[in-house]
Order: sequence, then C-alpha cells, then structure tokens
Amino acid sequence: VPAINPERLLGDLYALRKIGTYKTGVHRPTFSPDDLVSRQWLVERMTEAGLGAQIDGIGNVFGRSRASGPIMLAGSHIESQNHAGWLDGALGVIFALEAARALRDDPSTRDLGIDVIAFCDEEGHYGSYLGSRSFIGDVGEDEIDRARDRTHGKMMRDALREAGYAGRPRLTMDPSRYRGYFEAHIEQGRRLELGKLKIGGVTAIVGLWDYRIIAVGHQNHAGTTMMFERKDAGMAMVRLVAAIDRRFKEIAGPRSVWTCGRMEFDPGGPSIIPGEARALFQFRDDDLAVLTRLDSALHELIAEANREGPCEVRVEVIRKSQPAIMNEGFLQALERAAAQHVPGLAVRMPSGAGHDAQHVARKIPSVMMFVPSINGISHHWSEDTSDEDIVLGARVFTDAIAGVLRSA
Ligand SMILES: [Zn+2]
Repeated sequence: VPAINPERLLGDLYALRKIGTYKTGVHRPTFSPDDLVSRQWLVERMTEAGLGAQIDGIGNVFGRSRASGPIMLAGSHIESQNHAGWLDGALGVIFALEAARALRDDPSTRDLGIDVIAFCDEEGHYGSYLGSRSFIGDVGEDEIDRARDRTHGKMMRDALREAGYAGRPRLTMDPSRYRGYFEAHIEQGRRLELGKLKIGGVTAIVGLWDYRIIAVGHQNHAGTTMMFERKDAGMAMVRLVAAIDRRFKEIAGPRSVWTCGRMEFDPGGPSIIPGEARALFQFRDDDLAVLTRLDSALHELIAEANREGPCEVRVEVIRKSQPAIMNEGFLQALERAAAQHVPGLAVRMPSGAGHDAQHVARKIPSVMMFVPSINGISHHWSEDTSDEDIVLGARVFTDAIAGVLRSA
C-alpha cells in the first residue's frame, strides 16, 4: 500500500495558501497576478514529482505521468472565488499530486501513474467550467472570444495574452489513456460534520436548471389607479413564485432544492405600480426525472398565471445541466479504502454543488470524494478543514486510486 507523506501534503497546501492570502483564506481569482504565480508554483511541484508539466492555451495546468502501467486522471482547480477559502479546489489538486508522488515512491506501485490536472476557471470568473470543458473538447474558440471576467470585465483573450498563455495549444483528453478520473473536494456542507463522518463518496453531481421569469403589466400611479384596473407586474411575480414554492413542496424529491435568487421590479419606486418584474429561479436535483417534473410544474404554473391575467408572464431557460452519475466501481474502491483507515465513517451522498467532474464524467468513468468542512462553510475566507481530516482523506483517496489501477 503506497504511503502518503503528511508533512509534504500539508506543506504544499500551506504554501499554496500563502499565494494571495486573504485573512485565513485566499483571493486568487482566475488570471489574477497571484493566480498566475500559483499556476507556475504548481508546474514546479509537478516537475519535482517527475511529471511532464505544462500550462496549456486556456490555463489548465497538466502534469503527465511517465509510469508504464495503467493511468488515472486526478485533480480539481486552484483559482478561488473572490476573497474565499484556501481549500476549495486546492485540496483536490494537492491530493492528486500527493497520490502521484506516493505511487511513484513505493516500489510496489511505481508502474501505476496519475496524470494531475488543475482545471482553469472552475469558479466561473470567465464562463462555465471553461477549463474542464476545453479538456474534453467542448469549448470552441468563439466561446473564448466572448468570455469576459464577471467582476472587472476583462476579456479572456486579453487575460490569456497577458498571462503568456495565448497561442499555446489547448490540451484535450485522450480517453483511452485513462482508467478514469478521481476528484477530491471539501464537502462545502455539514452532512459529514453533523454525522461525525470522515469521508463522503459522491454518488452524483446534481443537475442545475436556471430560469429567468418575466412578468409584464402596466406601469401606473400607485395612488390614483384603482385596484380592479391595475396590471401590477410585481404582485403577479410574487404570487407566481409563492405558487411555485407551494407546488414544489408537494412534488419535489427528497434532495431537491429550489431558490428564487433575485427579484426586481421596474421602475422600482414606492409610488409606482411596477410595469415589469423579473426573477431568477433555480432548482437542483440528482435525478433527471425529478428535474423534468419540476420543470413541467413551473411551466404549468406560468400558463395558469397567464390564463388568470391580468399580466403576461414568460420564462426563459438560462441553463439546464444534467446530473452526472459517478462510477459505482470507483465508489466501492473509496469505500474499501475508507474501511481500512476510518471504519464505519464513510457515507454515500450526492453533491449539491457543481464540479469539473460532472464534465469529465461525460468522457470517462469518474468519482468524487468529500472531506468534512468545518461548520459547512465555503466560498468564504473562513472555510477550513482540520489537518487530521485532510491527511485521512488523502490516505483514502490514494489507496482507492491504487486499488483501481492495480485491478486494471
Ligand atoms: Zn471547487
């Protein structure tokens, strides 16, 4: 069994935390100066680990194994949300790196290899999973042409040129090279912590369906327009969203979540009946049948609102991502490894958050493994996981990969 080196593992995570430190977390948005430093730092760590390391034309950092035997792809991302935590993404990349080193260091596993990857922009500063989607061949040049940073508006082309990555080829995966893909991540929720558990084997990454709802009425004076003659788009929207919430409670699956993340009225004054209202509405589930059921209910309720009037309501789909089912054999490998290191402390669970693995899973068998998040906090600088849980997680992760590759 290959042994990870806890000091080396934690040392790398601490070193990465020092690049772009913000309070106890990091501020390393994609292609920021600190992000570029961290990518170069990772290339050096990969090279030291004996991997053939490079940064490609979209900023993916890739370390190719020179092992002669079966190969696993593993990784995550190293940029952060703005002013966010030190482990979201970084943990999965360093776990993959440490697993690659552990396999190389042990004579019994030296023939087994791990290609380590840090996918660029998982956090969506410029687009939607551009790095992992590029790696599976799902991003055209036109999408990169259009991509711009959501905080400061810089075009991705300009950022790539300034980084020195422009003109480099974009790497695309050769699926036949891999047994599959493993990604470790912090849970970003409280299920493991509340259950005093140590390892989450992810069964599926939820599908996420996003909508923009628009109600059109008639803008008028709030004092002189009688109630019977109003076309109040604001009230129409409030009634509709309340009805959706009531219906969803009746028909949702046990893990469904739904959110109205934004509602705005136009023109938005205290003495003006809103002429238009817009809302962003989203739901997530790991079961396509449930997603489809919620989608139908949403459309039925909008049709009902239009029949009743007096406002006109329409809905636009912003995106519909499919749930990604994780590989059963890989889940069992994680469970076998967990049974060795933390007997009885592993659980299966879906991921409510999106991850690069949902795209990689379209091409090769994939799995994710969660470690506990203290207080379930993430996308905030106070995000944390104990050193003990980090080391335990890396042991389980490495053993599981070795187990899969050895049985290949
Ligand atoms: Zn992440």
